[in-house]
Amino acid sequence: MFVSTSGTACKAVRSTAESGMITLKRLIVDTHASSCFFRTSVGGDGRKALIQITERCNLHCAHCFVSSTAVGADLPLKDFTAYVLPRLLDARVERITLTGGEPFVHPDLLAICQAVADRGMPVGICTNATQTSDADVAALAELGSVHINVSFDGFRPDSHGKFRGDRSSFAAALATTRKFADAGLLKGLLSTPNALTVPEEFADLCAFGVEVGAEYVLMNPLSSFGRGVKSRGRLAATTAAMNALRAVTDRFADQLDLVRIRFPNDELPLGDCDAGKLIYVFVDGQVAICPYLVFAARTPASRHRDTEFLAGNVLRSAITAHLDEHPFHTRYAAGANTTCSSCTLNEQCGKGCPAAVVAAGGHIGDLDTEQCPITGPDDRRLLPLAAGE
Ligand code: SF4
Ligand code: SF4
Repeated sequence: MFVSTSGTACKAVRSTAESGMITLKRLIVDTHASSCFFRTSVGGDGRKALIQITERCNLHCAHCFVSSTAVGADLPLKDFTAYVLPRLLDARVERITLTGGEPFVHPDLLAICQAVADRGMPVGICTNATQTSDADVAALAELGSVHINVSFDGFRPDSHGKFRGDRSSFAAALATTRKFADAGLLKGLLSTPNALTVPEEFADLCAFGVEVGAEYVLMNPLSSFGRGVKSRGRLAATTAAMNALRAVTDRFADQLDLVRIRFPNDELPLGDCDAGKLIYVFVDGQVAICPYLVFAARTPASRHRDTEFLAGNVLRSAITAHLDEHPFHTRYAAGANTTCSSCTLNEQCGKGCPAAVVAAGGHIGDLDTEQCPITGPDDRRLLPLAAGE
């Protein structure tokens, strides 16, 4: 059984898979709703880290969690190699993913990847695939330990491109993704269905994923973080659209891993929270126990402060003790509400995502109403609360 950083036994069933020396923990399972925004975690006492190497981005996506623009700071290469990488390794980080902004606008992206490879670790890059040269592709392929995830928020210039603030970005992303695939770099396709998309184009996205040999297509809803706070009301895909999307992509299930994050759920208990193991380094060195908790705490609706979810600054000092001793799992009790305490699913349920609760204006311990099958966002009762109800 998985034991969380707090030492409490987690109720959500996990599946694990050995990958080299790392035990990857799959958070997407048939028995529980995929309520965490992450696809995988790490087993044992290891951690995964996402590193924001730049705040800058050439696009202007409607859902950007960090509200990136063309202006912002880059994480200097010398700070990455002298402080960030060794201190993350000391904190038992086993997986590193580079994010932004757009990582390919960082002038030293290749050197950063080389530094990770020199420590014998794989490195992932999440990109919009519009700023990558052929020389970049060749250099990353040469390293042999890089994998790349590309964002496609729809599969047309009028959906993906418009959503990302530049219709021409769709053709560029398509061409570059094929180059990543040809070079053996492509891993997954990441997508936020939205009101500009029609469900059928996700079948086209999955067919493209199969064509280029992607391992998975991950889809998650437009959420109330960053620029999504304002755009969500206008641009989020409806529940009916998310269900239709699920139906049109089902036929690819034997060719691709279909990762459906926080899709409508009307029957399953929720997954639990691995905050503390899925950490994030901001460009200024601040370390989050989960990025989504900090993004959520920075939204106008939040009743929590972002400092509750931060664990030191990796540019100033070691972070291992800050992370190991972070009080999150002892300070807060997921499901500390009367609905959960009388729910028939209580024993199996991990109570969902605290970040979603915070972004919705709740206190941690409140219901994750977007995912809970008992009570919907509008207080609608969906399933009976107790046996016989
Ligand atoms: S708060 Fe917990 S459940 Fe939500 S995204 Fe972070 S790790 Fe996952
Ligand atoms: S009421 Fe609580 S225990 Fe029951 S399904 Fe919802 S989140 Fe889980």
